[in-house]
Amino acid sequence: MSEFTIAQQRKVVTEIPGPKSQALQAQRLKAVGAGVGTALGIFVEKANGAIIIDADGNHIIDLGSGIGVTTIGHTNAGVINAVREQVGELTHTLFTLTPYQEYVEVCQILNAHMPGNFAKKSALFNSGSEAVENAVKIARKFTGRGEIAVFDHGYHGRTNLTMAMNFKAMPYASGFGPFAPGVTHVPMSYPLRDPAGLTGEQAAQRSITYLEKRIGAENLAAIVIEPIQGEGGFIVPAPGFLTALSNWAHENGIVVVADEVQAGIARTGQWFASEFEPTFEPDLMTIAKGIGGGMPISAVTGRAEIMDASHPGGIGGTFGGNPVSAAAAIAVLRQIEAGGVLEEAKRIEGILYGRLEAMQAKYPQIAQVRGRGAMVAIELVEPGTLNPNPAAVNAIVAHCHKNGVLILNAGTYNNVIRFLPSLAITNELLNDALDVVEAGLASL
Ligand SMILES: *Cc1c(COP(=O)(O)O)cnc(C)c1O
Repeated sequence: MSEFTIAQQRKVVTEIPGPKSQALQAQRLKAVGAGVGTALGIFVEKANGAIIIDADGNHIIDLGSGIGVTTIGHTNAGVINAVREQVGELTHTLFTLTPYQEYVEVCQILNAHMPGNFAKKSALFNSGSEAVENAVKIARKFTGRGEIAVFDHGYHGRTNLTMAMNFKAMPYASGFGPFAPGVTHVPMSYPLRDPAGLTGEQAAQRSITYLEKRIGAENLAAIVIEPIQGEGGFIVPAPGFLTALSNWAHENGIVVVADEVQAGIARTGQWFASEFEPTFEPDLMTIAKGIGGGMPISAVTGRAEIMDASHPGGIGGTFGGNPVSAAAAIAVLRQIEAGGVLEEAKRIEGILYGRLEAMQAKYPQIAQVRGRGAMVAIELVEPGTLNPNPAAVNAIVAHCHKNGVLILNAGTYNNVIRFLPSLAITNELLNDALDVVEAGLASL
């Protein structure tokens, strides 16, 4: 996929974090507000492909990609060239004052690739949260209804409305209220923890009954759902769940919003994770993280008549669809269109499943391997039970960090390890990282 400018090899030359990173972290703690956390206190100077280099010269394997952002790889040549060229020509006008072509081109590409046999339109924003907020605004305007439904274990962002939409109070909402009204949480399909044998349709009926009794279908503007939950721990709903929900929603005039912020844009081996269930028909999709190759940009794409529901001027923002970010997004999207990128996600899925299922057979702490493409997770339990085992996750994560592998946890119970490598990661590098993960498991 890329020619690498940094050798794709792990190299640990100091303790992690090393002395230079520790000195920078001390300054940071004095200068930056404490609410802005740190997963691993290394200060990154350079990156390429799936390797990041810190201030002490450690070459670290990045299995997080800035939470699924550098899907195309760190410092992808196509993205660098597009950004360099654009920044010398035009950096800002505000699209709603005087438009420019790059914004329109991003929308055209997204419209062409969103699943569903209907006319589509898009609008661009800066962050995933902002995309979710705008999808809700648009759905409310279109339906003339106020209520929205979201799912247990879901995550949608850090703004006031999206805080209300998240499942977990800690760390996302605790003490930051009051929150936006009109949001109802309903059960998610969580195959590992649902009653044995519960089908996707039955799980959907459980959610639907709750919505009908608690809110009434006629009051609902939208249901907002991640087709594979990200922060919730890569929970893949049982087959049929998404379809049954969207069928019910459409029978009742409710807009279906697929939050594809983490799972979309080639991450799972399709353009969008919604495509794995072809009978699932989202009306709107929210898109962010991987689309800009590291530049901030997000989108809402969906049914033209819904996207046209707002009066002119109702949707926008100063920086939304910034020309430089739009140029970066075009570079990412055109590479996916050119072919080969989705196959990289499938290659990575093959390695992750092969290695992680072999570990599951050996280590009883692994209850499940799940996910798709380069979005795969393991859920850890106390052996012989379904009791969450966050201590094991913390030990493995600490072992990986010490040995130069950046890995992230997830999950409502903090008992999930998620793998979100760049699609540019080589087989050798991924296997090296998985050797480190396995050594961490073996040392439990
Ligand atoms: C990250 C994320 C968001 C929020 O995106 P930000 O860019 O951090 O505002 C929303 N939805 C999902 C599914 C996410 O993973």
